Amino acid sequence: SKADIGLIGLAVMGSNLALNIAEKGHTVAVHNRTTSRIDDFVATAKEQGLEEKVIPQADLKAFVDAVAKPRSIIIMVKAGGPVDDMIEQLLPMLDEGDAIIECGNSLYSDTQRRFDYLKPKGIGYLGVGVSGGEEGARHGPSIMVGGAKEQWHNAETVLKAISAKFNGEPCCAYLGEGGAGHFVKTIHNGIEYGDMQMIAEVYGVMRDGLGMEPKACAEVFRKWNQGPLNSYLIEITAHVLDAVDDETGKPLVELILDKAGQKGTGVWSAIAAQTLGVPATAIEGAVAARSISSRKDEREAAEKVYGARHAGKADISLEDLEKALLAGKIVSYAQGFAVMARASEENGWNLPLAEIAKIWRAGCIIRSRFLDQMSAAYQKTDTVNLLMVPDFIELMKQNHGALRKLVAEGALGEFPLICLSSALSYFDSYRQAQGTANLIQGQRDFFGAHGFEIVGRGKDLHGDWPSTLDN
Ligand code: NDP
Repeated sequence: SKADIGLIGLAVMGSNLALNIAEKGHTVAVHNRTTSRIDDFVATAKEQGLEEKVIPQADLKAFVDAVAKPRSIIIMVKAGGPVDDMIEQLLPMLDEGDAIIECGNSLYSDTQRRFDYLKPKGIGYLGVGVSGGEEGARHGPSIMVGGAKEQWHNAETVLKAISAKFNGEPCCAYLGEGGAGHFVKTIHNGIEYGDMQMIAEVYGVMRDGLGMEPKACAEVFRKWNQGPLNSYLIEITAHVLDAVDDETGKPLVELILDKAGQKGTGVWSAIAAQTLGVPATAIEGAVAARSISSRKDEREAAEKVYGARHAGKADISLEDLEKALLAGKIVSYAQGFAVMARASEENGWNLPLAEIAKIWRAGCIIRSRFLDQMSAAYQKTDTVNLLMVPDFIELMKQNHGALRKLVAEGALGEFPLICLSSALSYFDSYRQAQGTANLIQGQRDFFGAHGFEIVGRGKDLHGDWPSTLDN
């Protein structure tokens, strides 16, 4: 008999997804360019008692033939050129109505291009964001589906079966046409950058401002994990802070070099926000912070020039730190979701914001109690910006004072808070009915005759500016 689904690419992610599919009782045909990986995979499947659900095929044509029609074929190969190569190889072997389901970390504009390319050929293209790393892939990731709706229904049962569950509900949903799934995954990663950076900034204040040892910090994060900040990232932060190096007996975190890596999705989300004209300062701050972190030599040189900052005392309670982190998080999520709302309008995706918050509640890196609150709140309203959603207005009112206090302490105590201070500035700009762009418009008209508006008098007005200047 034929396989329910096919999967190409048996590296870390692909092999775990394939085992997950088999475990959920679906037959999966598997293929990999390098055949030794297929043998390794079959051996693992045997160890796990899943070999009966696996059809290994070293020949691509035989692999395609092993999948039941209309075919659903997952590709989980390296993002970029290899995906295009795979599509070209598969194309002559597929029949109308078949689907290619690409589950890597692809740039959404590439996904859109591939979708548009395959549509007239009668091949459904699905670009699917998968979050949760290796563990998630094996036991239940969050799955963000975009692309050909008709073909989605052919693969829906399998994809929902392998996804994470939150209170029994699958963390897998169809979000929109073309590049919608990969776009949402990109913003997920941007938000993830923001969450991680804000946690790191708060850790910095604990370490340098409150003089706390890693163990003591871990204790605080463990406690916070019982409250409104309850989330995977807070939980793992406590574990990272708790870990001890076997060789020296020192806290591991103090030995780890303070240079953060990045693979590009954070940058993509910041670029998307800028291109769409939606402010996402928390995400941008988090990306910038990683870039600054990677310039260790420059930072060392600058510290010599400006002097080490005062290892000052921060005058802030742990309770206020918790509240500040919550306020920063609300702003960051407000920004991320506003970017998705705008992209949805621009691309005609009709992205379901409440549903997105729902499928992020389990399986993915940013899974949290907060997202459960968010999905519930978005279900009750059409409001796009989280800062204007009733339940969150209350939360923000209760917590922005603490964020303010933290940012003030950071400024005076010389603790960098790129992400948290950007979040606060955004909040203060967003809630300011009378801004300062009147002056910008005056300046623009002065040097470029760009015109300005005066309510009651009209648009495209000009000032009578002096023609001679000192400069
Ligand atoms: P890699 O990104 O390391 O890719 C390796 C796989 O791609 C191998 O199966 C390899 O085949 C195949 N491949 C590479 N080039 C080609 C080609 N030209 N033609 C055919 N096959 C090719 O694997 P991962 O499992 O780490 O990731 C897969 C995708 O999932 C990536 O897009 C990644 O960004 C994404 N992702 C990864 C996560 C992770 O935690 N690792 C988390 C979420 C998403 P061969 O064995 O023959 O070399």
